[in-house]
Amino acid sequence: MFEQFQGQSLIKFADTFKTSEKCKNYLSHYKWHSGFTCSKCGHSHNWKGIKAFTKVCKNCRHVESVTANTLFHKVKFDLTKAFLIMFEMSTTSKGTSSTNLAKRYEINQKTAWLFMSKVRKAMGSSGKHSLEGHCEADECYIGGHKEGKVGRGADNKKKVAVIIETSGEYGIKRGYAMKIDNCSSKELGKLFEKHVGNRAEVKTDKWKGYLPLMSDFNIVQEKSEPTVNFKLTHRFIQGLKSWIRGVYHHISDKFTQSYMDEYCYRFNRHGSKVNIFDNLVQKMMVAKPLNCNLNKT
Ligand SMILES: [Zn+2]
Repeated sequence: MFEQFQGQSLIKFADTFKTSEKCKNYLSHYKWHSGFTCSKCGHSHNWKGIKAFTKVCKNCRHVESVTANTLFHKVKFDLTKAFLIMFEMSTTSKGTSSTNLAKRYEINQKTAWLFMSKVRKAMGSSGKHSLEGHCEADECYIGGHKEGKVGRGADNKKKVAVIIETSGEYGIKRGYAMKIDNCSSKELGKLFEKHVGNRAEVKTDKWKGYLPLMSDFNIVQEKSEPTVNFKLTHRFIQGLKSWIRGVYHHISDKFTQSYMDEYCYRFNRHGSKVNIFDNLVQKMMVAKPLNCNLNKT
């Protein structure tokens, strides 16, 4: 009988998932609860495989493991560790670095980093749940100067566009951050296309890059004045920046978006931590495997 894992207790977690069989059993629910479909030929009839947690297609005899075609594919360490890393990345307020995880789980740092990349991929927004209420959008720079360097090479800041949906005067319902190449309307438009719904009203500063977007989105412009307006947006940005500073020494262009995804995933679920691990497992199961040749540049 499948029981969804709930809560943030590490004791309960470690007890529930103390063997890799228990982890695989959990995954098999999400893999096959609505039936089997062969990934090679699409056939639905199957036998139980000889190895535990595998199924064999009756049509083409393809053997499919529970982790095939998911982000758990070819994970190089025990699933109990993978589950613990996911639990840590989703339930702690700030997540952690691969160096730290490598020490805690006695795995290679690169292996830890690669698995974290897979988890971050699962954390990426589907864009299916648009922001619909009062929103604010802005751009910022994250990362920062490399210490002791001036001139070329000193500036490794990344441009990021953010959008939040506010909840009254003091709260933020949800927020998203997207790496952009520049502050043109084309780049800003990508953020709007992905996250802004028909009923949303978006407040921006007077930047002209937002003007062409007005034909498709309900945008109201207001001069930005420090400590007067856009306070919630600035709070969101500050949180994002201090998280990056605290956990990572350097973030590369190539992976900036995945760090944004990690931050926003946790931020947007601060009120639903009870199910957050289970939600992450489901996302790992439906996302396609990540190319293992990720070069950390
Ligand atoms: Zn088949």
